[in-house]
Amino acid sequence: IPIELAVSRLVLEDKTLYTLVIHDLTERTKINRMKDEFISTVSHELRTPLTSIKGTLGLVTGGILGEVSEKIENVLKIAYQNSERLESLINELLDINKIHSTDLSLSLELIDLNDLVNKSISANQGFADKYEVLFQWQYLPDNRIIVKGDEMRLNQVLSNLFSNAIKYSPQKASVIVALEKINDKVRVSITDQGPGIPLEFQSRVFDKFTQADSSDTRRVGGTGLGLAITKTIVEKHNGKIGFVSKPGKGATFYFELNICKDFD
Ligand code: ADP
Repeated sequence: IPIELAVSRLVLEDKTLYTLVIHDLTERTKINRMKDEFISTVSHELRTPLTSIKGTLGLVTGGILGEVSEKIENVLKIAYQNSERLESLINELLDINKIHSTDLSLSLELIDLNDLVNKSISANQGFADKYEVLFQWQYLPDNRIIVKGDEMRLNQVLSNLFSNAIKYSPQKASVIVALEKINDKVRVSITDQGPGIPLEFQSRVFDKFTQADSSDTRRVGGTGLGLAITKTIVEKHNGKIGFVSKPGKGATFYFELNICKDFD
């Protein structure tokens, strides 16, 4: 039976009293499992029709079904972009379910991190342009930094951290990506000039479904899932993730991975 124990001590003059409370967590565990199954089923069910919608829109905007007027094409492009956004939200929901389970398995290979970061910056350049943010990249002088990692998952980590830095930046500000070697580790850090992380929110930044501003009027969209997933992926790689931020003065998010000794 899953249980939770709580011990409290009460000192009364010459006596000390102890109380032990045992919570039976069977019901809570069952409800959590049902919740996970529900999220998983709904996400899978949503994905199938969405893939079809995206495919159909792609056929029209790709010109395969013949010419359409510019007006219609523009409207369909917006619909296509939003179906992509919906797809990534559904993927995040599916990922979040894997956080506490053993499902998030990695397919490990040797990866040149310098190369991976470089490619991920190019892939996110369009997003930076949209927000009019200057994306800057500081190379390490020695080019190859080999780590053992899952390329798809590390790309997800980079994209999540890049897109946060970009979407919280003011226009024309810089986002600086740097790689640095610290003993047998490599640190990737992403620095922005956005609002930073409010002090009262700092301890919860990596919790799932949490956002500093969850009001309907907030400027940027999101689910509050990205950093929770990012942290899980980094820790599955035996890495470390953190941030430093003075509210009002931007934020630096970083993660560290072990460098593969044979290639150092
Ligand atoms: P979201 O989908 O809301 O971006 P995340 O898990 O990626 O979810 O981030 C959680 C919250 O942490 C965000 O809603 C935001 O309040 C805060 N946050 C994350 N990155 C930054 C950043 N670079 N600058 C300011 N706030 C940030």
